[in-house]
Amino acid sequence: MKKNLKTDILIVGNGMVGATAAIAFAQAGFQSIIIDQVKPLEQASMSYDGRASAIASASQKMLQQLGIWGRLKKNYTPILDIRVSDQSSRHFLHYASNAVDNKPLGFMVENRHFRQALNAELGCLDSITLISGVKAETIRRNNEGVFAMLTNQQIIKASLIVGADGRQSQVRSEAAISLTRYDYKQTGIVLNVEHEYDHNNIAHEHFYSGGPFAILPMRNDRGKNIKSSIVWIDKTEKISKILEMQDEQFNFLLNQKFGDFLGRVSAISPKWTYPLSFQFANKCIDERLALVGDAFHGLHPIAGQGFNMGLRDVAALAEVLVDNARLGLDIGGFSTLKEYEMWRHFDNTSMLFFTDTLNRLFSNNILPLKVLRQLGLTITNKLGPLKKNLMLYAKGDVGDLPKLLEGRSL
Ligand SMILES: Cc1cc2nc3c(=O)[nH]c(=O)nc-3n(C[C@H](O)[C@H](O)[C@H](O)COP(=O)(O)OP(=O)(O)OC[C@H]3O[C@@H](n4cnc5c(N)ncnc54)[C@H](O)[C@@H]3O)c2cc1C
Repeated sequence: MKKNLKTDILIVGNGMVGATAAIAFAQAGFQSIIIDQVKPLEQASMSYDGRASAIASASQKMLQQLGIWGRLKKNYTPILDIRVSDQSSRHFLHYASNAVDNKPLGFMVENRHFRQALNAELGCLDSITLISGVKAETIRRNNEGVFAMLTNQQIIKASLIVGADGRQSQVRSEAAISLTRYDYKQTGIVLNVEHEYDHNNIAHEHFYSGGPFAILPMRNDRGKNIKSSIVWIDKTEKISKILEMQDEQFNFLLNQKFGDFLGRVSAISPKWTYPLSFQFANKCIDERLALVGDAFHGLHPIAGQGFNMGLRDVAALAEVLVDNARLGLDIGGFSTLKEYEMWRHFDNTSMLFFTDTLNRLFSNNILPLKVLRQLGLTITNKLGPLKKNLMLYAKGDVGDLPKLLEGRSL
């Protein structure tokens, strides 16, 4: 084991965002070292993360460009339509892919398949060194560079450190970057189910007063469209009671919540739980430091956008770094990092605001709001241009897009 290592970029966190960042930086011609406290094999197991992610079509183009999508083989399911409804009301909003360009609005991918694909790609790139089972013991930054001592006593010198270490980011807290945070007092249960009938690649989101209930289309091991990933959000105390239920009682409630439009529904996986909170770092850069993904922003999963936003951070950061490096500028320099901050600030604040407002508007039983949102769903469903714009948002095709999100190379 080499004690002293030198690289362009030190990435802390080999989660889905950090690993994608390493691959994007490699494509941009940078050397990087990526560290994680957890071993990659453990991260890619179902017991570590049973979630599936909705991937917007722009994110899919980026993953394709980076060579990650191809490594998923057939482990993804297209989302053709999205149907949004408010409790048991007959008002709903229907987004259909054939109303835009006949291409999928997005794709569902199990996180474990993502992690396997990312590990496979990481392992093939000589410019990336992965060190797992370690943390940074100390991180020092000055105008000469970043100096990190790892818990295995290796010392790394880099021009830039990227904090991709999730919601409890050590990189963020060591840089004393403050956080705006509050608890939603909601928890999400994630599980996989099988149902009798084909879901026809339609994703459903039902809004209830305690929180949304999402049914996300997947394929089972035999390639049949009779499997879905469920994200069941409710007030935390209610979820605690649900988790105490015997299987039979749980299945009864699950079928009640799901509805009978796909026939009988049965749970086919363990349940994973996620307490939900809003958090936003008050800045995403500091001396020779940039934050990406959940280390920067923690969104409500109501619109399935957290990972997508992390990919947008990575695409913007990689493009800013390569553009500045081509001009001979320092990739850890203030003016380089400021460009990244300015590019990502508006997009991230608007998505945080949008998901937060959506949750506040729908997760309650206040009568005037109930009337307002049912009216809103009906009007939006009928207003072509507004609906089309929302669909472009869901596809990730809005704003000043970095090249990778348009499927172009850096
Ligand atoms: C219920 C639910 C459903 C969701 N569904 C969707 C969806 O459909 N679509 C979507 O886009 N998003 C979705 N999200 C959000 C998405 O899962 C996250 O935004 C995304 O996983 C964040 O990835 P990350 O790599 O930034 O952070 P993390 O996944 O938290 O990864 C951080 C990594 O850093 C490592 N680490 C942490 N601290 C240290 C340290 N000190 N030293 C070394 N390593 C460290 C960890 O081990 C981990 O590997 C959902 C979230 C929830 C809760």
